[in-house]
Amino acid sequence: MRGTVLYGPGDIRFEDRETPRIVEPTDAIIRIALTCVCGSDLWPYRGLQPIDGPTPMGHEYCGFVEEVGSAVRSVKSGQFVIGSFVTSDNTCPNCQYGYQSSCVHREFITRAQAPMLRVPLADGTLVPTPGVPSDDLMPSLLTTSDVLGTGWFAADAANVKPGATVVVVGDGAVGLLGVLSARQMRAERIIAMSRHEQRQKLAREFGATDIVTERGDEGVKRILDMTKGFGADSVLECVGTQESMMQAIHCTRKGGHLSYVGVPHGVALKGEELFFAHVRLHGGPAPVRRDLPKLIDFVLDKKINPGKVFDLTLPLDQVAEGYRAMDERRAIKALLRP
Ligand SMILES: [Zn+2]
Repeated sequence: MRGTVLYGPGDIRFEDRETPRIVEPTDAIIRIALTCVCGSDLWPYRGLQPIDGPTPMGHEYCGFVEEVGSAVRSVKSGQFVIGSFVTSDNTCPNCQYGYQSSCVHREFITRAQAPMLRVPLADGTLVPTPGVPSDDLMPSLLTTSDVLGTGWFAADAANVKPGATVVVVGDGAVGLLGVLSARQMRAERIIAMSRHEQRQKLAREFGATDIVTERGDEGVKRILDMTKGFGADSVLECVGTQESMMQAIHCTRKGGHLSYVGVPHGVALKGEELFFAHVRLHGGPAPVRRDLPKLIDFVLDKKINPGKVFDLTLPLDQVAEGYRAMDERRAIKALLRP
């Protein structure tokens, strides 16, 4: 089998790798139907997150169960499944609290940009669909594996409520699906911060009511102007830089909720800043498994079409072009077909 491996900054190769097989009785082997490149893959691709030698890549996936270990009960071969980018037993206290991405047995999936994938803890990680979904729904189903699950968590963690004013910082795929999620949660005003025309258009399609193109202090000033000087009820930080985090904090009203779902790189908050901000912070790696059944149903019922974030489709062996296109912001998100 060939799969995706990162060798160093800008160096993605599609090369021979061992075909995965059952290791633990709780494993499943999935034949990947669709996978994709994540915004978080760009951190190591850009050399901003060190890697320890050649690193297999990919953590968003859906596909057909090829084989299951002897202890697996809830999925069987031939079924179409979607799983979280973090494995979970779905039974430990952290899972029961709804934080499956902090499962005491968690492992991060890292080999999904390949035709076959081993998924540990299959019972607690994978969700089967009723029957095989039609081809046109598969890209949207794939998004539930991470990017939609993360956008949804961003909106949920920012306590988006009907009638709320919401600001989304970051116009990557997660931010755009944060807009979609806030819309589903019936926010009244959804302000997307974006200076990229194509992304603004998609943000509007997903439910944004306003677009703010300014960033940093200028962006904050615009948001305050739009909220009578007080800030938004809910702010979703979907980038992970110092600038975006500060922008998000300063856009939140006193007592408002700020969520952060972008993997932080070099973010440092001063205690004094936090103290006087008077905001409620909640974030982290999205517990995608918690919301998977609901989000899968939304897609199957055609209530949402999150697959629109894929504006580039490539055969899997051209995965390097997918990374390049996203790195250069030529594409919002690259869909890969094995
Ligand atoms: Zn657990």
